[in-house]
Amino acid sequence: MKYISTRGNSPARTFTEILLGGLAPDGGLYLPEHYPQVTRAELDAWRNLSYADLAYAVLSKFATDIPAADLKAIISKTYTSEVYSNGREDSDFSQITPLRTLEPGVHILELSNGPTLAFKDMAMQLLGNLFEYALAKQKAELNILGATSGDTGSAAEYAMRGKHGIRVFMLSPNGKMSAFQRAQMYSLQDANIFNIAINGMFDDAQDMVKAVSNDHAFKADYKIGTVNSINWARVSAQIVYYFKGYFAATKSNDEQVAYSVPSGNFGNICAGHIARMMGLPIGQLILATNENDVLDEFFRTGAYRPRDTRHTYETSSPSMDISKASNFERFVFDLVGRDGAKVREFWGAVDKGGSFDVKQTPYWDALPAFHFASGHSAHQDRLKTIRKVWADYGVMIDTHTADGLKVGLEQRRPSLPLICLETALPAKFAETIMEALDREPERPAKLAGIEKLPQRCEVMDPDVVKLKAFISANVPR
Ligand SMILES: *Cc1c(COP(=O)(O)O)cnc(C)c1O
Repeated sequence: MKYISTRGNSPARTFTEILLGGLAPDGGLYLPEHYPQVTRAELDAWRNLSYADLAYAVLSKFATDIPAADLKAIISKTYTSEVYSNGREDSDFSQITPLRTLEPGVHILELSNGPTLAFKDMAMQLLGNLFEYALAKQKAELNILGATSGDTGSAAEYAMRGKHGIRVFMLSPNGKMSAFQRAQMYSLQDANIFNIAINGMFDDAQDMVKAVSNDHAFKADYKIGTVNSINWARVSAQIVYYFKGYFAATKSNDEQVAYSVPSGNFGNICAGHIARMMGLPIGQLILATNENDVLDEFFRTGAYRPRDTRHTYETSSPSMDISKASNFERFVFDLVGRDGAKVREFWGAVDKGGSFDVKQTPYWDALPAFHFASGHSAHQDRLKTIRKVWADYGVMIDTHTADGLKVGLEQRRPSLPLICLETALPAKFAETIMEALDREPERPAKLAGIEKLPQRCEVMDPDVVKLKAFISANVPR
């Protein structure tokens, strides 16, 4: 399997060749040159596989340049019930992504039982093991540099902790995260994890990362890389749980389901789109946004109008506060019949701060065949949904999952079972849970008292010279 760029002007590459990189040289995102098709016989054979075996069945169609035995070993050490056992007490952790039925035909797929209580662990844990494997083969090292306001950074740290050949330098705004988030990140004592608390805001931290990345000599000398959501391996790992959830919610492969997906960067739902293109019987892919509704607007009107930071709102589902959905380009590449020139034209405008509109084009007529529906959910909807699910089913859900469920229930075709993807556990969003339910969120037993653990972090002013000095002092050369 080779990978091509959505902008059509980069040479085809293998899975391993694109694993450690980011964008394609022409600025596009990598996608398989064709989607592997899953036959009915394969679907039947996959129905009763364990998560790890299913992951191997799916991923071996994409990572064709990793020897089968190696890929199998990497996957089996990733998807274990030890790693994914942070959920509710009555969850069946042996399933890795257990399906929770709220009522007949309405389900939640638990994707948040990993180390950082968010669905990002599903792909990031695999990425950590794939990186370690690829770096060992190449006898190379990688220093991951990033800035986080909480979610992605902690998922990356928990995926890379203790891995050979990898160090993580993660910047976070000093004093701006919740006590729980701080404890999660700063209590890591692994020698290869460096938390740097910046005296400033998230944007200051991100500017420092950009400044270091733009120093090409320093970047090359110190083998600086990133883990961002456009990484193809992350998307491919997410395809697996669409299959797993389908099998759990249906009795036969003649049935169809609807998925609803709380969306920000379009990474999660992009994996659902690909699963459907591979032949998984998904009748509806329901995209949910919060108040930042750039993607909902596209599916309703055909106009893609990314907003600037002034028009990106801080909400109570903060991991969806995104107004430029990086993975969306992958879907549009398929929508325009894989015409790289068209994608270049559209993103030529987007990259200049502009927009595009497919309404008066043949692509608007092509859109229904991709089976998307969309809607948005605001703070009051979120509170209402959290209260209703708690009252009716005794299940506490987080703010992002609430957005997904609200829109899913609105948009689903009633004939289809609805599977709402749970993207985080409520423990991460205590403030809004308190507001909705007037009680503290449930916390997984393994994380009781995490705030009392000793913490380790470097406090630094927003000074790029100091950051570079810190990196060079901690990277043996
Ligand atoms: C990252 C994240 C999302 C958004 O996922 P995308 O892949 O960016 O669409 C939704 N909810 C939570 C809790 C997240 O961490």
